[in-house]
Amino acid sequence: ESNLNPNYCFENFMEGESNRLGRSAGMAVANKPGGTSFNPLMIYGGVGLGKTHLAHAIGVQVKDKYPDKTVLYVSTEKFIQQYGDAVLKNNNRNDFLHFYQMIDVLIVDDIQFLSGKTKTQDAFFQIFNELHQNGKQVILTSDKAPVDMQDIEQRLLSRFKWGLSAELQAPDYETRINILKNRLYRDGVEVPEEVIEFIAKHIKTNVRELEGVVTSLIAQSAFNKKEFSLTLAKGIVDKFVKNTKKEVSVDYIQKVVSKYFEIDLATLQSKTRKRHIVQARQLAMYFSKKLTKSSLASIGSQIGKRDHATVLHACKTVDNLTATDKQFKKYVDDISKKLSF
Ligand code: ADP
Ligand code: MG
Repeated sequence: ESNLNPNYCFENFMEGESNRLGRSAGMAVANKPGGTSFNPLMIYGGVGLGKTHLAHAIGVQVKDKYPDKTVLYVSTEKFIQQYGDAVLKNNNRNDFLHFYQMIDVLIVDDIQFLSGKTKTQDAFFQIFNELHQNGKQVILTSDKAPVDMQDIEQRLLSRFKWGLSAELQAPDYETRINILKNRLYRDGVEVPEEVIEFIAKHIKTNVRELEGVVTSLIAQSAFNKKEFSLTLAKGIVDKFVKNTKKEVSVDYIQKVVSKYFEIDLATLQSKTRKRHIVQARQLAMYFSKKLTKSSLASIGSQIGKRDHATVLHACKTVDNLTATDKQFKKYVDDISKKLSF
């Protein structure tokens, strides 16, 4: 069992400037697994930009070309869970390692979830070394570049950088059109050109959303027995755009706040007690509490490993200062504007 989705193949993965490097490196790896310098191949980029699809496509193509090779796709969550189960049962850790060390092409998706899991990282380190030494191929995906990954052991990070890291970016307009057309063609539905163009114009940052709009459009037009009209498309796109507006992450807030104060992220998260940096940090905590669903503890741990009491204190301080200090209130207003896009 490879756990591969045959629909996630190269033919269905539309090429564009945004994914050219990753796609062609993926092809090269699929045609010669373990035999290129792209080992590991690390595919990274934001949500819904095709990391999982591309990772599967490599596996699907290897299976096609080399039916005898063992290929395994595993999500990092599942890998962590399997490791936990193996350790609970006495001494299955070795079986776990051996199982993975027998694989010819190992694909591990969303490797950022290893962050903080030191025991699982150790196991993965051992597996990686064995595979790499034996010329086996490793393919990894992550939402961040290796340099930006947090709470991953240095020795693992340095191995992630051995091969090639390729970023997937948001697709340009042409590519979005191609993705939409390919999707509709596969579903066997015809949609007027102007509707396709309208969707491609408005949904820009996430391919999964692009597909979501198509799915809703098909469902609604079938349900209401309506044509695929521009009005129908506008309504659906509107809802999607509104829904995505609410999604702000602690990461994003920290970036916006550091940029506003012209300090770097590391400084914002540092232990320094300099007044303007403390205020920047407190503002990041305050907005994270206000705009995300993260708990105080989780916000604290993401903003320089503080505890929940520190975050609570920050929120109170920001409330107080906003009421008493005009300059500070301006900071709050400016940042609010930047965060409500
Ligand atoms: P990620 O793993 O980066 O979050 P996925 O691989 O799950 O993203 O992609 C989200 C959806 O978008 C999937 O259905 C995938 O098939 C589709 N997709 C992404 N990029 C492309 C592309 N270049 N061509 C066609 N479909 C794509
Ligand atoms: Mg994915």
